[in-house]
Amino acid sequence: MKIEGLFLASRAGRRIFWTLLIAAAGPIVLFGASAHDALSEHFAAQEQRQRVQATKYAGLALLDNLLVARTVLGILARTGEADIETRIGNRRGRVLADMAAVGLDGNVRAGSTALWQRWRHLVALDNTGAAIGDARLVVGEQGEGEAPPPVLMTLRTPESPNAVWMAEIDRAYLFGELGADATGERICVLDGGGRVLFCPIAVDLAAHRSKAPDGTFGWRTGWNLFLRSDFGVADWTLVNVGEVRERSMPGGISLARMTALGTLGSVLFVVMLSLVQVRRTMVPLERLAAGTRRLSAQDYTARVPDEAQDEFGELARSFNDMAARIGRQIEAMQVQSSIDREILNGLDIARILQQVARRLQQLIPGAQVSIVQFDREARSLARVHHPDESMRVINLARTDAVESVPSQGEALSRCDPQPRWLAQVLGGPCENVYVQWARSGGEALALLVLGVDGAPISLASIVQEIDELRDRVRVALAAADREQRLVERATRDSLTGLANRAGLLEHLDREVAHAGESVLSLLFVDLDRFKDVNDSMGHQAGDELLSIVARRLRACVPADTLVARPSGDEFVLVSGRPRDEVEALAGSILVRLATPIALHGRTLSIGASIGMARCPEHADNAADLIRRADMAMYDVKLRGGGEAAWFEDRLDARITERAMLRADLHLALQRGEFEMHYQPRVDARSGRVRSAEALLRWRHPDKGLVPPGAFIDILEEGPLIDEVGLWAIETACRQAAQWRTSGVQIGSVAVNVSTRQLHATDFPERVISILRRCDLPASALELEITESIFVGGSADAIARLHALRDAGLRLALDDFGTGYSSLSYLHKLPIHVLKVDRSFVAELGVRDSALTLARSIVALARALDLHVIAEGIETLGQANMLRALGCDELQGYLFAKPLPPEQIGACIERLADPRATEALAAH
Ligand code: C2E
Ligand code: MG
Ligand code: MG
Repeated sequence: MKIEGLFLASRAGRRIFWTLLIAAAGPIVLFGASAHDALSEHFAAQEQRQRVQATKYAGLALLDNLLVARTVLGILARTGEADIETRIGNRRGRVLADMAAVGLDGNVRAGSTALWQRWRHLVALDNTGAAIGDARLVVGEQGEGEAPPPVLMTLRTPESPNAVWMAEIDRAYLFGELGADATGERICVLDGGGRVLFCPIAVDLAAHRSKAPDGTFGWRTGWNLFLRSDFGVADWTLVNVGEVRERSMPGGISLARMTALGTLGSVLFVVMLSLVQVRRTMVPLERLAAGTRRLSAQDYTARVPDEAQDEFGELARSFNDMAARIGRQIEAMQVQSSIDREILNGLDIARILQQVARRLQQLIPGAQVSIVQFDREARSLARVHHPDESMRVINLARTDAVESVPSQGEALSRCDPQPRWLAQVLGGPCENVYVQWARSGGEALALLVLGVDGAPISLASIVQEIDELRDRVRVALAAADREQRLVERATRDSLTGLANRAGLLEHLDREVAHAGESVLSLLFVDLDRFKDVNDSMGHQAGDELLSIVARRLRACVPADTLVARPSGDEFVLVSGRPRDEVEALAGSILVRLATPIALHGRTLSIGASIGMARCPEHADNAADLIRRADMAMYDVKLRGGGEAAWFEDRLDARITERAMLRADLHLALQRGEFEMHYQPRVDARSGRVRSAEALLRWRHPDKGLVPPGAFIDILEEGPLIDEVGLWAIETACRQAAQWRTSGVQIGSVAVNVSTRQLHATDFPERVISILRRCDLPASALELEITESIFVGGSADAIARLHALRDAGLRLALDDFGTGYSSLSYLHKLPIHVLKVDRSFVAELGVRDSALTLARSIVALARALDLHVIAEGIETLGQANMLRALGCDELQGYLFAKPLPPEQIGACIERLADPRATEALAAH
């Protein structure tokens, strides 16, 4: 393993190693040195002893040789055969070099006379000093050239008591063994007088002397050969002068080398031991360090070998436990943060719950895990999520589940007894089932279910994480719930509870995408007079009205029809029904919405206009479908409203044309394209022209003369109406003034005023200043306002009317009877004139009810002291009926069409002619 090689790379490892090495190597070296000394001393003493011993053996061998020599001499003496020495010598090696028998008289009896002659001065025959049978040794003098002195032996035998047998002992025999010792001993022999008898090598004997502790000198390796008893001479000394051999150990190794090797070996052993110890200490430490490094590098699988039964093993086991615990916690955190991300990202509840289920299964391997999610809407259904990403829907009401599973707080707890549905949730019965509720705001959102067979599990180690997971489930479900509500809020109109524009578009997109072969119809319902209610009665009343309309709509549409309020007073219905059913539906809506509504003490008749379009016939996408239905509705509106109509292709062209008109209108005033035409009004009785109504005309460069119906509502969309309106008043006033000066008999000129114009605070002042500019009396100007003043005009607008009336102007209520059934409110308006709308006039003689209605209107006006004008009279019958009813003035094509001002004079003249009246009567 890599780590083992590294343990000495660590500082601590090196420190321990060197400490151990120094602590052990010092004593080892010291011990080695002293052991070397002691051993060498011991070996020296042993050597000494061995050499002394060897010297001793050599001495004893020398004694043996002497004794043999005596025996040989004795035998020769006894036998008297001085000449057999050769034979003896041959047999045993030469023992005696020469011999002689000398009588006590000094005569040589046998043997070598020369011997005697040479050594007679050393042998005292008369006093041999020895008893018979005793041998004596005599050492000769040193010969020439340092030749060693000969060793002589004398013997007297009982066989020849008068003779002394003397012999020179052969040196080779006597000392031969000393000189050639195989063991390397070199032994010198000294006689009692210190003369060197034999020495195999030239040596300085003084060096072999040693001083004893008592100050006396002796031989270091000397040994005394005791000769007095046998040979009657002082002791000979044997001195071992052999070279001191180098001390060597078994195997031939020198002591120094041996101790050096021993020391080195010990040091190496210590090194080994230290290394082993360091390794045994450092390797686990290094492994722990490496493990810690891996852990800090977020490798939570890091484990270290922990088999050792020492403290390192304990540490390793603790480390592994810790790593496992951290790993588990990190894993838990990772799962939790992944769930958190999921919650923040997309709130895919199924995925979140499956993730939680998977984690629960990891925590308790072998457990059956399910998460039951209770449905917010469908209260008796529950979804069961499993770790394997599968999901089932089961029949389980939240309340039943809450009742049958005891909820011990919020903690994970064993469920006992188990309700039967738990087995269904888990996909089979389990011996032990654990449950935990996920609640939010007291409402049970989900149930975590864990099933295990066998022994109950210990929850202590997992309960915290399961709590965390439960919290995630809670947050996710609560967030999903909140989001669901937000989506609903975003797609639902808070006032009516109907789908709003977003909800409508969402529904339409979905329906259009899935429409396929089937047909989808869209009904665009616009309230005809809502804006006026809103403006006059306030927004609260408007809101109440919208709620009522929404309720009515909902009440009359089938369940599969979507009702939406995309904005203001517009309602949209989406239906997949066949064409005739859709038309019937539109009809019933019109009837329903035409029914008067009682609101704040008033009875409002709010009609509606409905435009209808079909997908794919009219449009293939939601936006176009809405737009086309809107066009159809608008067309209905232009036609007076209160109807339902399908979209037609021509509408698109008309809309385009209106858009072009809108663009041109902005320049029309500067370009002087507007002009005023005047329609005379005749006195009902005399038939003479009393007044004229000024009617706006637009002379379009391409289109020619455009009637106000085509553009007034476009002008009314913005501030242009104020400008054009004032221009109309000024032009009419100028014309009236001109007629006055030129003698054209017209009492007053009536100018139409939009309710919107009355919103301008300075309107009365501007009108009065026009009159002043034109030098026209206020009474010569009549302003026609419409019934929309009741609803569209605020109290301020009515106050402005008062100001105008106070200034002397005449005020007329135009188109009376088309809008609001508000006869009772007429007295609130400062008007002088009531103009009966031409729709009533047109029905006179057609419907009986028209005459009744006309009569009651005229009666009411009379009661209110109002001047009554009937307009739109095209037939004499109508004129007569209205005259009979008591109308004051009559206006209509019957008398004159709106005319350019220059034709008015002629017209007045024509109408003043009694023949004209006759002609009319004839007509
Ligand atoms: P209105 O004030 O009710 O004007 C009467 C309308 O009835 C005129 O239409 C006139 O030509 C038409 N008319 C008169 N007698 C008969 C008849 O016997 N049979 C039929 N079928 N129609 C008849 P016109 O000129 O197209 O004006 C339409 C509306 O435009 C006016 O209705 C008025 O509300 C508005 N208007 C006209 N001029 C102005 C103006 O200068 N300012 C404003 N604000 N509105 C104007
Ligand atoms: Mg009018
Ligand atoms: Mg009118």
